[in-house]
Amino acid sequence: MNASAGPASPRFATKLPKVGTTIFTVMSSLAVEHDAVNLGQGFPDFDCDPALVEAVADAMRAGHNQYPPMAGVAALRERIADKIEAVHGRRYDPRDEITVTAGATQAIFTAVLAVVRPGDEVVVIEPVYDSYVPAIELAGGTAVAVPMRTDFRIDWPAVRAACTARTRAILVNSPHNPTGTILRADDLRELASIACAHDLIVISDEVYEHMVFDGQPHESVSRYPELAARSFVVSSFGKTFHVTGWKLGYCAAPAPLSAEFRKVHQFNVFTAHAPTQHGIARYMAERQAWREVAPFYQRKRDLFRAGLARTRFRLLDCEGTFFQLVDYSAISDLREADFAKWLTTEVGVAAIPLSAFYEQGTENRVVRFCFAKTDATLERALSRLSAL
Ligand code: PMP
Ligand code: GLN
Repeated sequence: MNASAGPASPRFATKLPKVGTTIFTVMSSLAVEHDAVNLGQGFPDFDCDPALVEAVADAMRAGHNQYPPMAGVAALRERIADKIEAVHGRRYDPRDEITVTAGATQAIFTAVLAVVRPGDEVVVIEPVYDSYVPAIELAGGTAVAVPMRTDFRIDWPAVRAACTARTRAILVNSPHNPTGTILRADDLRELASIACAHDLIVISDEVYEHMVFDGQPHESVSRYPELAARSFVVSSFGKTFHVTGWKLGYCAAPAPLSAEFRKVHQFNVFTAHAPTQHGIARYMAERQAWREVAPFYQRKRDLFRAGLARTRFRLLDCEGTFFQLVDYSAISDLREADFAKWLTTEVGVAAIPLSAFYEQGTENRVVRFCFAKTDATLERALSRLSAL
């Protein structure tokens, strides 16, 4: 008897016809299979501060192992409110304006589900992080992708032109994955002008907020009263504290928006992992570790860029995030996905094709490397890349 002779599964049409397995999972699997240095998927290959592990372990030993409050542990919401106020100068009320989530992905998904209805349009900027469009489509909305300019800055006239009477929201990401560009004050003013003119909700993905380099500020939407009043601001402890596997993040939004967010959140996950929340709350009270993140990654960026400058890759600017884009047109004519596969299987360094961030697979002869790695890992990758 073969499997096809077993009970039949019901027939149904996929809700996400364009979606396969994410490029990050695909490239990480290929990297493992070929023993490649994995500069593909964005995660650190070094451990977090042991004090953070102790704080979470202590929380478990202290019995913080049952459901925390739906919106998150109170002490953590306080620490988040304090951090946002210290860094961006806006006070969110921890009681009804901050919600702790199971990572930024869940926060973005929840915000989208809370505000997007069938028939709504949501503007996204391409290259676009892979979770945004499926979230919009699952909510019954339509994603309207506006390509960045060739210098990977937002084309505001094009964004304005893309807005219609059906546009409900705009999703922005700064510092930007994968391009490493950041929004500047004049970008925020354009965003505010468009959002106010079209009465849009803004979902601002700021997971790399503490990775902005060369002394530039992170222009959070929370700094701009007109924008803050209409925005869900999303961040992730996974990035800030080097613990991507812990999947803990948060969403800050004015009370009326947070109330709608929580209506969805409570049936989406109800609440996020309790001991991690207690542990991070204590850790944040003890030290302001987020202040060390920018210099830490800036040094890695500089080390990696200095090495790449000795190869045939052409470096694009990197103002923030832990990603570096490189143009490989002096090395190969392959399409990006093929080049990334070849680099992984034949050269032994995994990368992510930029085309994966475009709905139509736009080609730029550019791939993304992640430099959230030990210096030894970066040196190992560089020695392989310099042979090209
Ligand atoms: N947004 C962007 C731009 C990201 O790069 C990532 C993460 N890797 C996320 C959201 C998701 O963050 P989390 O792991 O906290 O869900
Ligand atoms: N955000 C990470 C990246 O861009 C990956 C997260 C994931 O694998 N979903 O590489």
